[in-house]
Amino acid sequence: MGRFCARCGSESGVYIRGLCSDCYWKEMDMEIPSDISVTMCPECRSHLQGKKWVERDEIADNDCKAVAAAETELLRQKKFHGGVTLEWASGEVIERDASGRPKAIMLNLRLKEKSTGIEHKTAVLVSIEYSTCSTCKKYARKEHEAVVQIRANERPLDNEDQKHVERVINEICKRGPDRNRGGIVEIKEKEGGYDVKFASLSAARVFAKRLHEDYGAAVQESPKIVGIDRRSGGRVYKNTISIKLPRLRVGDLVSLRNNVYLLTGFDRGRAIVKDMRSGGRRTLGVDEYIALEKISEDYVRRVRLDGRTSSHADFYDLNKSSFIEIPPEMIPPEMKIGEEGLLIRHEGKENVYRIAKWDRTESI
Ligand SMILES: [Zn+2]
Ligand SMILES: [Zn+2]
Repeated sequence: MGRFCARCGSESGVYIRGLCSDCYWKEMDMEIPSDISVTMCPECRSHLQGKKWVERDEIADNDCKAVAAAETELLRQKKFHGGVTLEWASGEVIERDASGRPKAIMLNLRLKEKSTGIEHKTAVLVSIEYSTCSTCKKYARKEHEAVVQIRANERPLDNEDQKHVERVINEICKRGPDRNRGGIVEIKEKEGGYDVKFASLSAARVFAKRLHEDYGAAVQESPKIVGIDRRSGGRVYKNTISIKLPRLRVGDLVSLRNNVYLLTGFDRGRAIVKDMRSGGRRTLGVDEYIALEKISEDYVRRVRLDGRTSSHADFYDLNKSSFIEIPPEMIPPEMKIGEEGLLIRHEGKENVYRIAKWDRTESI
């Protein structure tokens, strides 16, 4: 063919852009930097890309995060010739600082020249520098626009409430802003409840809305003047969102206009009840919800129907292990022998309600 390398004159092997592959890759290696540096946040391990902090959420391991940041940075700086692609990269930590964080990484690369498909291996030394990112700085200063005060209505917060609150916190952290912190700057226990500081008012509102919609909490927002801005002379507000977890909760037996209901849940802040007699469900209006009265546990007994005659029905009290006789009109006619139910004392009368037809998970 009479071809030869424009640099070394070699007449053997495959040519890439007028050079033998040795000379081509030698030239490429000159273009690729022998070392680059990457800046990472020591708190959240996000890495600085130009002026923007980026966190690789899907990587849990800190060493792997540093390697991924190094690879991203190398590609971002576009140090490769147009005809060359990065086929594969792997890195290893070769030096650590006093706190054990990666300080230097050897990034091994496999490159490929597109037109010929010829591959070449090389390595780049990456030094990692640490600097706290803007978000972590903000959190360290506990800067916040809103405080959410979580309390329970007419009772102290209990384990059940804590579980609700934790569930909502987990939810907002998963999808929320600021690197899995959901905008939460600080959580403090206070007056039998919690005070939660949020970096932004909008994040605080999302949090409050969830507790309202899913758990029927009452939400009230009030801006409070905390001072005057010295430079602008304007008022500085700090918003307080007060959250009252409802006095009633899912699983409570309640009465409304002589009827007995089971509170089964909340939908967009409105209570859903199940009629203990008919089993029918409905969503209550705000006024109805306020009028609900909780039936004390002292008035509820778990019973089993053991037999019935024309004059009375025999029940066995499952908690007290005793027998009770009840007039037949107080029990549902379709109740079967051996079936369990609830004997509820309400408005001075005792009635038996069926529970067997219900889903066990929502029975009491
Ligand atoms: Zn050559
Ligand atoms: Zn950070």
